[in-house]
Amino acid sequence: MNNKTDMLNSRSLTLIVMAILIELVATFLFLHNRLALALVNTTFTLVILLIVILLLKFSNKNSNELRKDRQRLDHIFDTLDVAIWSHDLKTNTLLITPGIENLYGYSLEKFYQDSTLWKKVIHPEDLKVLEERERILSLGKTVTSIYRIIRSDGEVRWIQDRGIPTVDERGSLIDFCSVLFDITNRKESEDRYRTLVEMSPDIIAVYSRGRIDYINEAGCKLFGASNQKDLIGKPPSKLIHPNILREIKDNELDLDDSKSMMRFEFQANRLNGESIEVEMTTMPIFYEGRAATQIVGRDISDRKRAEHTIQHMAYYDVLTGLPNRNKFRKHLNEVLSQSTNQKHAILFLDLDRFKIINDTKGHTVGDQLLQSVAKRIESAINNKGMVSRQGGDEFIILLENKDTEKVIEVAKSILREFATPFDVDHLEFFVTPSIGISMYPADGEDEETLIKNADTAMYLAKERGKNNYQFYSSKLAELATQKMDIEKWLRRALEKDELKINYQPQIDLETNEIIGVEALLRWHHPEKGMISPADFIPLAEETGLIVPIGKWILKEACLQNKKWQEEGFKPIPIAVNISVRQIQDEEFIESVTRILDEVGLKPNLLDLEITESIMQDIEKSTNVLNQLKKIGLKISIDDFGTGYSSLSYLKHLPIDSIKIDKSFVDDIINHSTKGEMVKTIIDMGHNLNFNVIAEGIEKKEQVEFLKQNQCNIGQGYFYSKPIPVNDLEKLLSRV
Ligand code: C2E
Ligand code: MG
Ligand code: MG
Repeated sequence: MNNKTDMLNSRSLTLIVMAILIELVATFLFLHNRLALALVNTTFTLVILLIVILLLKFSNKNSNELRKDRQRLDHIFDTLDVAIWSHDLKTNTLLITPGIENLYGYSLEKFYQDSTLWKKVIHPEDLKVLEERERILSLGKTVTSIYRIIRSDGEVRWIQDRGIPTVDERGSLIDFCSVLFDITNRKESEDRYRTLVEMSPDIIAVYSRGRIDYINEAGCKLFGASNQKDLIGKPPSKLIHPNILREIKDNELDLDDSKSMMRFEFQANRLNGESIEVEMTTMPIFYEGRAATQIVGRDISDRKRAEHTIQHMAYYDVLTGLPNRNKFRKHLNEVLSQSTNQKHAILFLDLDRFKIINDTKGHTVGDQLLQSVAKRIESAINNKGMVSRQGGDEFIILLENKDTEKVIEVAKSILREFATPFDVDHLEFFVTPSIGISMYPADGEDEETLIKNADTAMYLAKERGKNNYQFYSSKLAELATQKMDIEKWLRRALEKDELKINYQPQIDLETNEIIGVEALLRWHHPEKGMISPADFIPLAEETGLIVPIGKWILKEACLQNKKWQEEGFKPIPIAVNISVRQIQDEEFIESVTRILDEVGLKPNLLDLEITESIMQDIEKSTNVLNQLKKIGLKISIDDFGTGYSSLSYLKHLPIDSIKIDKSFVDDIINHSTKGEMVKTIIDMGHNLNFNVIAEGIEKKEQVEFLKQNQCNIGQGYFYSKPIPVNDLEKLLSRV
């Protein structure tokens, strides 16, 4: 078959060379059109160049050399996935290079035998490509077609077919040459590449000469275009800010510069004018032979929004929208750093008894209340300072450039704002603030000291009856340190066995018999000596330490009472003081039951003393007390008369006794009313079927008065102080 190649005349050769060169350029442009610069088949290009060189040499050689070169050329054609098909229509001479065998899998003879074989093997779906191709060829124009063939082994391959017609001066087709390449690999990788670009969720676009040359579907969607045509060929100046486009343009020709890749984050516009946040990376490329920019980008609106939210959360309180601790501290630092001779005030505000509302009415109500509180504080400050929420029920306010008088005015106006009740969820709440104030520079020159001192002053406001304001003074600091020390020691007191119980007998005033004992906590500090419960119980309540301490004393008292019975003493109830904080503890009932079980004490020998503050949440307290009553415990209201309760409330509660507070018992001998209040309490108590116990009896006259008014039980130094267990046992009678 090689001798057929010899028949290629010089015209055909020229045509082939031209065809291959055109092919090379076409392939290059074709690839560029699809952004596939990287995909140019370098091997293919090299082979083509080799052929060109050989052909150039070929034209200057003698016949021997010529023959050798032709042989080499034949060899190249034989091994190449390129076939050339030449048909001289005048002489009806058909020439086909042997490469066709590699391409189609049929022998060369088959093509000579059946001149329509080439058409028969074309994939049926691609036959329509031929119709157009033949139309163009008939016009004498060169045409490149791409179609699939089915090889003799059934494999489908992609062929690129460059048809070059020769027409005579009358325009009739006299010669036709076709150059066929197997482009399956290129086509497949190109298809894959195109799919990647088209399906990419990111914007992929090419920008050159001030216009969009290409943009994928994701890009269209991002800019709100329904069709690629809406964008391609158009300037993007309405979508992207001209400054950014200018920067991209300036970067266009820096192809050698490794820094030429650029990143942008900016606000772009969609076609409907809506703005979006976009991130883009641009890279200068050559596109269709021109300097251009390849753009890859994405919509980062969601990320930007999230960033903004995070930023906001870092500096603002989610619940109230007020600046938070971080924002406040930052602002305060800035103000302080710029201050020369000005005075500023820090107001530390803590809500009184908010925790009880939160614990009893639930966090939703608590949260709503805090929101209303924030509004009231803001309205009192009236934009004259920064109000921040520190967390919980604490707020800090900065008043810039204000002297003490002005600060007092503001503090008073805050207190006034709280004078009316808060309406949350159709419930009325009276909440009051305690405000501590520190002044810059007198009470501190830095943010930390100023806040700490305002906090200390706030505690003084709490101690002074709440719902008031107090300025910081250095004496306060000592108090606060003491308090902190106590808290520190108290945490260790339980472990170190420093807590003890003293017992104070409760007496039948008629018979003078001991009919009960009250367990009262004592703290023997190794260095400080005795610390009074009045000093540490409120602190233990504040810190929550009262819960473990309360459990401890409850168990100790029960064990002690059980022991007395085992030792043959007459059974009497033991009274244990319980804080509201303990009642609020979800595990309270369970822990009382467990202790009674473990100790084996009869429930009616345990008397729980609760103060009137439980009335603040009558619903929950009724529930807890009912459950305790069901177990069979005794319940007493301690310090009666000092709290909020009215007797009418008490009648709904399962109470056994009320203990008249010592202050009323004192009135029997000290006050002009001569115990009128005591009389009233005793009468009402008896009416409601409660036992009435008088506390703090110190004098015989008091005993007489109480007896005359039918109060039959009493407790006080007149009979016995609270005493250690051994001393008490001497007083207890045996069965
Ligand atoms: P309380 O429950 O009203 O206890 C009576 C207090 O009055 C005791 O003070 C007692 O020593 C004192 N007292 C009794 N009779 C007289 C008297 O004739 N004259 C005078 N001047 N005082 C008398 P104490 O032991 O200092 O306890 C103070 C408060 O600390 C108790 O008041 C109680 O509320 C609380 N407390 C004591 N122990 C505990 C405890 O274990 N748990 C809880 N939650 N609170 C406790
Ligand atoms: Mg008591
Ligand atoms: Mg009492």
